[in-house]
Amino acid sequence: MNAYDSGLGKNAANYAPLTPLDFYERAARVYPDHPAVVHGARRFTWKQVRDRGHRLASALAARGIGHGDTVSVLLLNTPEMVEAHFGVPLCGAVLNAMNTRLDARTVAYILEHAQARALIVDRELAPVAAEALKMLGRELLVIDVDDPEYTGAGERIGEVEYEAFLAGGDPAQSFDFPRDEWDAIALNYTSGTTGRPKGVVYHHRGACLNALNNSLLWDLPRHVVYLWTLPMFHCNGWCFAWAVAERAGVNVCLRRVEAQKIFELIRAEQVTHYCGAPIVHSLLVDAPAEMKRGIDHKVYAAVGGAAPPQAVIEGFEAMGFDITHAYGLTETYGPATWCIKHADWAEKPPAERARLNARQGLPSVLEKGLSVRDPETLQEVPADGTTMGEVMVRGNVTMKGYLKNPEATAAAFRGGWFHTGDLGVMEPDGYVKIKDRSKDVIISGGENISSLDLEDVLYRHPAVLAAAVVAKPDDKWGEVPAAFIELRPGVPVPGVKELTAYCRERLPRFAVPRHFEFGALPRTATGKIQKFELRQRLKSQSAIDV
Ligand code: AMP
Repeated sequence: MNAYDSGLGKNAANYAPLTPLDFYERAARVYPDHPAVVHGARRFTWKQVRDRGHRLASALAARGIGHGDTVSVLLLNTPEMVEAHFGVPLCGAVLNAMNTRLDARTVAYILEHAQARALIVDRELAPVAAEALKMLGRELLVIDVDDPEYTGAGERIGEVEYEAFLAGGDPAQSFDFPRDEWDAIALNYTSGTTGRPKGVVYHHRGACLNALNNSLLWDLPRHVVYLWTLPMFHCNGWCFAWAVAERAGVNVCLRRVEAQKIFELIRAEQVTHYCGAPIVHSLLVDAPAEMKRGIDHKVYAAVGGAAPPQAVIEGFEAMGFDITHAYGLTETYGPATWCIKHADWAEKPPAERARLNARQGLPSVLEKGLSVRDPETLQEVPADGTTMGEVMVRGNVTMKGYLKNPEATAAAFRGGWFHTGDLGVMEPDGYVKIKDRSKDVIISGGENISSLDLEDVLYRHPAVLAAAVVAKPDDKWGEVPAAFIELRPGVPVPGVKELTAYCRERLPRFAVPRHFEFGALPRTATGKIQKFELRQRLKSQSAIDV
C-alpha cells in the first residue's frame, strides 16, 4: 500500500453515494417556491413536490415496503409519475415504471417477475391492471391515481386513493437510502418487440450520472421548462425525470401526445425543451401552420429511440426548432450518445447538415467508451465510415444487469463491453452512424443492405408518411427487401411501379424493394415500428410482387 492509500480511506465526511434523489432535495432547498410540476389546473412548487415525494416514501415504509422491494407503476406522464421517481427509491424500494400500452398478460408477467409489493395505477389503466391482478392471483397494495385531467371511463380498483395515501405519510420523515450507489433504483422492462421482456436494473449511480449527462450534453438551462412528450416509463424518461430536478426545472405534464395540445402547452408554458421518438417529431412537422402560430421563443427538441429520417431533421430546420439527435437503449439508461453539433455545420448545405445530425454521435461525458467492434472477435473496426461492426459501450451508464437472468447479463457484457445489438460504422471524426440492428440487416445475393438507408430514401418520397423495410426470404437471392409504407393523406397515391422507379434512381439495383405493402404500421408505445410483426405479416399475407 502506498502513502496515498494508507489512512486515506472513504468515510462519511469525504464520500457519499451518488444518487439523483439529492437533486430534488436541493431544488426544494434552493428554489422552494419555483414551479416544479404543471398539469392542467394543478401546479406544484419544488417544496411541494419534495414534500409529496417524502410523504409517498413515508407511507410506503409504513406498509413495510423498503430496501430491495419493487413498487410497480402504471402511470401516464402526470405529477404522480414525477413524484414516484423520488418517493419510491427514497424508502429504499425500486421503481418499476411499466409501459402503459402493455396487455394484461404482460403486466401480470412483469408484476410476478419483479415480485412487486405495490402497484400505483392511473384510473384510465385500471381495467388492464385489474385483469392483470386477477391473473397474478396474489394480493398486493394497489393505489389508485384519479387524475382530474382524465374524465373517461375506468373504476378505482385499489384499496386506497393516492392523495389519501399521501395524507398518511409524514413529509418530515428522514431516510438514509441509498446506502450504496450500486443499489438498484429502477427496473425497466425492454419494449418487448420480441419474446418475453427482460428486466433492466438501474443503480443510483448510473441514474445520477445519466441525468447529469443530459444536463451537460444538451446544455439544459437552469429552470428548463420541459414538456413530457416522452413517456416517463421509457428509461425513466431517458433519465430526464431526474435531470429536470437537477436543473430545478418545470415538468410540464402531458397524458397524451397530440399536436394541438403540444403546441398549446409550448405557447402557454413557454416550453423550452422536449424529447421524443421520430414519430412525435413528424407529427409536429406535419401539423397545420395555424397550430404553430405565436411561438416566438426558441424550442429545443431531442430525437431518439429510433433513427430519425433525415427528412424529419430537415423539417425541423424549416419549423425553426433546434433538433438534437441522441441514441441509446433501455440498458444504457436512455441516451448513450449525443450528436454534438459543430459551429461550422451551420454553413453546410441543408442536406449535408441533416446527414451530419442524423448520425448517432459521440459517447456522453460520463460514459467511458463507445466503440464499433466485430461482434465475434471484439476487434475494433477502422474509423472509415464504411466497415460495419456492432456498436458497444462501456462505463458508468450501463445497466447493472438483467433481473434474475445471469445468462442474458453475461452475454450482454461479453468481453467487457455492453453489446447493443445495433450495427454501425465509426466515421473518421469519431461519430457513430447506426446502419441497422443485427437482426435487421438484409443480405441479398451476398450484399448487405441497410434497411435504415433504404427507409431514408423512401421517407423522402412526398407520398410517404412512414416506411419500414424488412427482409423477405427469397429462393434466388436469400433475402430481398420488402417495404411497408404508410401513405401521407391528401397526396396522390403512387403505384408500385412509380415507387420502384423512384428507388432505382437512388439505390443500387439489389437494394430496391421487391415487395411493397401499404397501410398503417404497427408501433410500440415508444414509437418504434415493430418490424417483428411486419415479418410475421409477410408470412401470412400476400405481398404485391414487382
Ligand atoms: P429501447 O431499449 O426500447 O430503447 O430500444 C433500443 C434500440 O432502439 C436500440 O438498440 C436501437 O436499435 C434503437 N434506437 C434507439 N435510438 C436510436 C437512434 N437514435 N437511432 C437508431 N436507432 C435507435
